[in-house]
Amino acid sequence: MAKCDAHPKLILQIALPVPLDRLFDYWPPEQHAPQTIKPGMRVKVPFGKYSKIGVVLRLINTDDCRIDLKRLKWAEQILDTEPLLSGKDLQLLQWASRYYHHPLGEVLLTAFPINLRQGKPAILPVEISYMLTEQGQLAQAAELKRAPKQQALLSLMQDHPRGMPQTALPEHKSALKSLLEKGLIRESVIQTGAYNPINSGKPLSANPEQRQAIDAVIDTLGRFSVSLLQGVTGSGKTEVYMQVIAQALQRQLQVLVLLPEITLTPQLEARFRQRFNVPIVCFHSKLNETQRLHAWLKMQQGQAAIMLGTRSALFTPLKKPGLIILDEEHDSSFKQQEGFRFSARDVAISRSKMLNIPVLLGSATPSFESLFNVARQRYQLLTLTNRAGNATDPAFQLLDIRNKPMQSGLSEPLLAVMHDILADNQQVLLFLNRRGFAPVQICHGCGWVSRCGHCDANMVIHATEQRLRCHHCGSEQPLPKRCPACKNAELQPLGLGTERIEHTLSEIFPDKSIIRLDKDTTQRKGSLEGYLEQIHAGQADIILGTQMLAKGHHFPDVTLVALLDIDSGLFSVDFHAAEKLAQMIVQVAGRAGRADKPGRVILQTRQPQHPLLSCLLNQGYQAFASMALQERKQAGLPPYSHQALLRVHAKDAHTPQQFLQNVLQTIQSLNSGKTQVLGPVPAPMARRAGQFRFQLLLQSTQRKELHHLLDTLLPQLAQLKLANQVRWSVDVDPVDLY
Ligand code: ADP
Ligand code: ZN
Ligand code: ZN
Repeated sequence: MAKCDAHPKLILQIALPVPLDRLFDYWPPEQHAPQTIKPGMRVKVPFGKYSKIGVVLRLINTDDCRIDLKRLKWAEQILDTEPLLSGKDLQLLQWASRYYHHPLGEVLLTAFPINLRQGKPAILPVEISYMLTEQGQLAQAAELKRAPKQQALLSLMQDHPRGMPQTALPEHKSALKSLLEKGLIRESVIQTGAYNPINSGKPLSANPEQRQAIDAVIDTLGRFSVSLLQGVTGSGKTEVYMQVIAQALQRQLQVLVLLPEITLTPQLEARFRQRFNVPIVCFHSKLNETQRLHAWLKMQQGQAAIMLGTRSALFTPLKKPGLIILDEEHDSSFKQQEGFRFSARDVAISRSKMLNIPVLLGSATPSFESLFNVARQRYQLLTLTNRAGNATDPAFQLLDIRNKPMQSGLSEPLLAVMHDILADNQQVLLFLNRRGFAPVQICHGCGWVSRCGHCDANMVIHATEQRLRCHHCGSEQPLPKRCPACKNAELQPLGLGTERIEHTLSEIFPDKSIIRLDKDTTQRKGSLEGYLEQIHAGQADIILGTQMLAKGHHFPDVTLVALLDIDSGLFSVDFHAAEKLAQMIVQVAGRAGRADKPGRVILQTRQPQHPLLSCLLNQGYQAFASMALQERKQAGLPPYSHQALLRVHAKDAHTPQQFLQNVLQTIQSLNSGKTQVLGPVPAPMARRAGQFRFQLLLQSTQRKELHHLLDTLLPQLAQLKLANQVRWSVDVDPVDLY
């Protein structure tokens, strides 16, 4: 006992980024006053042979705990003087850890940019600005005519009586020094805490539907509510966002705007900067780590007012939270598909609830869940039915291509329409969701096909690089000239990819310019922006691409959109496929047309009578969603039930299957019968990157039951006999059953 008295009274409970769902106890660092340590600060601790960075979650009194104090280690260092995460932030992350059944330490650390995870200091560089002194205000620039650089700087400063930031004066270094020495200017540290939105850019005059939407959301500022803004591309959603944001800024509140990576373009950022005279930061994968750190800290400290970011920006701490906006809310990129698998949309809603602020979801094709929540009156629906500027909706046409002559996936009737449109100098957009030259190479002699050695998948031909590539595991090899099996030289491409269509198009339309947009052509930094500029400058006759085309960009000069192959989306085993196909069709179609040039949409199909297609095209997205939701209700599928998918993989096929059998037995001993168990079954792609994959689907009409089962089941998995021979993961609310 006497020995214990030498110890401090407080113990730190720390979350560490390790795959164990528990906290770790440490003494506060020696030499550190324990009462200055607060939850939300980062801490460095010894862990095994190394040190780890964690987050203090709680401080507990030695009297209140049953910890073996003799075994407790000392933390090495507290890294922050103030908590980086607030109590509300910690509460959200703890909720997310429980809801997604993912270890708290890993969840907590995903809230930080990499630099902070690595323990680097949480400080922003001091920003310096220069102001004229009284003497400088009175000085005549002419007095400096023998020092032209100083003279120029003085005039510049006199044109900016409120001062200029150092960052705006990079080429004036030596002149700055001279004017400082002469006492004409002085330095001051920029105070960016308060912003002045009064001299922001003028908003457009809202049309009646926009007005209604804007007022409805402004009305909810200061309390929790979810609004769903449904409006096609070009209907003025962004304008609605901006006018609501203006109100939040007037109240000195911060706004977090989340978008899919691909729609976060420099143009959008520029539009925001033009409208709002407040500090705006971005947070996405194209920025470097320092830029991301600074953006994060500026929001955390209240120095920036708006953050435009992707999924990973969701957890950014906000000093004065006012509003969260999620654009393209249906987009699957809001779901993180590995590690900590969370839905940024669902967590954004939970976060808004905890913060008591509104959240605004926007989309032309809302997710079925959101429409379901509107029907249940949990969300308020706001609609923009017309395109701003009066553009008309495009006309759809199902083109039956059965028995029609085809050239590389382009039917003769489609080619005929293209000829007309192109002769009229209008733009055509072609969509095919498959990149590469052809999805497989086949031997005409013996039937050999280019299978991937590691996956249940084919290797795709990339003709320009003369390589075969697996799109699932990344393995590649030179394109064989002779069949590896029979040495025959008659190897042929089978099927279509965007690269092949581009090739065919250049033969059919030799004098037309073609731009292909897919992952292969836009890998280089800035290349996508370059192509988009060319398209907007009218330098492209035919635009061809994958789903990249379905997102964010609007091509007003396009008057014909053709989807070359929609049939492959009609026969998926995943019940989400119909929803995704409908969204994709409407989104691609919505890229085109404006007031003076109405758009036309052609869908090539061999299934012209398919009920899904006819409902969508004849009655529209809303009717289609109602029909599909009705089907899901009858089948007991989400959102009428709740799912969790347990995925398991190993180097052989037997172990994961056997492991899941054991899991199944455990479940049977725990389950009250209110959760349905489906499987174990092989994953739709049973082998990927050399791993054999199996899965077990849990489904319940009661969310609580499902989570209760997971709570009791998951801690037991590690004890199962084969647990250390397999890798497993849980996906709560899976959107992709692969
Ligand atoms: P969305 O976000 O739905 O794609 P935007 O807000 O970007 O739509 O608007 C599309 C175009 O219409 C933009 O060029 C925008 O400036 C213009 N616009 C939006 N609202 C109005 C309005 N009320 N009056 C005039 N033009 C508008
Ligand atoms: Zn062969
Ligand atoms: Zn592969």
